[in-house]
Amino acid sequence: MEFDLPESHRALQSSLRDFCERRVKPYAREWDKDEKFPMEVVRELGQLGVMGILVSEDLGGAGMDALAVAVAVEEIARFDGSLALTVASHNGLGTSHVRVFGSDAQRARYLPKLASGEWLGAWGLTEPGSGSDAAGMRTTAVRKGNGWVLNGSKMFITQGTVGDVFVVLAVTAPEKRQKGITAFVLEKGLPGFSQRAIHGKLGMRSSDTAELILENVEVPDSARVGELNHGFIDTLKILDRGRITIGALAVGLARGALEESVRYSRERTAFGQAIGEFQGLRWMMADMKTELEAARLLVHRAARLADAGQPYSKEASMAKLFASEVATRACGKAVQIHGGYGYTREFPVERYLRDAKLCEIGEGTSEIQRSIIAKELFKGA
Ligand SMILES: Cc1cc2nc3c(=O)[nH]c(=O)nc-3n(C[C@H](O)[C@H](O)[C@H](O)COP(=O)(O)OP(=O)(O)OC[C@H]3O[C@@H](n4cnc5c(N)ncnc54)[C@H](O)[C@@H]3O)c2cc1C
Repeated sequence: MEFDLPESHRALQSSLRDFCERRVKPYAREWDKDEKFPMEVVRELGQLGVMGILVSEDLGGAGMDALAVAVAVEEIARFDGSLALTVASHNGLGTSHVRVFGSDAQRARYLPKLASGEWLGAWGLTEPGSGSDAAGMRTTAVRKGNGWVLNGSKMFITQGTVGDVFVVLAVTAPEKRQKGITAFVLEKGLPGFSQRAIHGKLGMRSSDTAELILENVEVPDSARVGELNHGFIDTLKILDRGRITIGALAVGLARGALEESVRYSRERTAFGQAIGEFQGLRWMMADMKTELEAARLLVHRAARLADAGQPYSKEASMAKLFASEVATRACGKAVQIHGGYGYTREFPVERYLRDAKLCEIGEGTSEIQRSIIAKELFKGA
């Protein structure tokens, strides 16, 4: 495996590093405190090409790859997990479902505006009664003339209120379970389609999360994304890619935790010396560094396999599982290294810890990742 990033990816990394220092780092704490979605900054990321990394250049995107998404998301997560989640879910979920499985007409209508950041994408799989067991969803789409009528609700949907374009999964053949689910693309403002913001999250507080409510929402058949009854199978492919991105987000948070810890432990003194001189703390930081680099290797390996068109489902799960648990551990250590100050909003590490926990839950919990990896291990046995 290549260890060096291609030149184009290093350029993306360095422009985002500069952008985040100026436009994210000084404000992330306030956004978190106020649960404020930073729309203006998201639009600026659109101008940098970060909202359409995987969209082809002829449709207004950057025409890059999964490795580029991982690089971008890590850079943003270094300073703000919430903003990184916005970029991750917009690129990886809603936009990708249209990009990969949409018709030419859907791609032409939605991708240019999604890639520029003028429109934000959301993706609705989870429901109030089903998350890990996603095929147990209750939302239905029933034929009416040449179109469909959708009823049900979707839970915890990122970009749920700020989004403009929503890919929503619904049951079209109840007796077939996961082989009876279809994806539809909905636009904000459709009669019967409403959103309810969810506030008071532990972390990722300035990312937008909402419940989507569908009450007799009528759409034409041209709103169907992909083949009839194929939505769940397509969804599994979208989630595989998404997991690489959540792994990258976790690596960014772990890196932030480490960099803040090194800085703080150089300045803070106890017993007449910098606390960074104590071996107990140095070893914590050595472990953080080792684990986060191992996590990044897993993330980049999964991304490179995906970009090479090779199987990567197990590798994506391993990357997400390991990186998210590394992030939670690293952020916990960072709070410890900051002592009492680490327990306050004065330093960013408590926010990183709250944000990191989501990586163990969203896009498939750690338990589900372990099940996927174990299933591969016992395949054919
Ligand atoms: C901030 C945030 C943003 C999100 N964004 C989106 C989004 O944009 N779109 C979207 O569709 N969803 C989104 N989600 C939903 C997320 O993907 C789900 O919360 C997640 O998949 C877990 O589902 P659940 O909450 O229903 O938990 P459950 O499935 O009820 O799980 C509860 C517990 O049971 C465990 N469990 C369940 N099944 C098994 C099993 N077979 N073996 C072992 N343990 C098991 C789980 O691991 C977990 O510990 C988001 C969630 C959050 C919190």
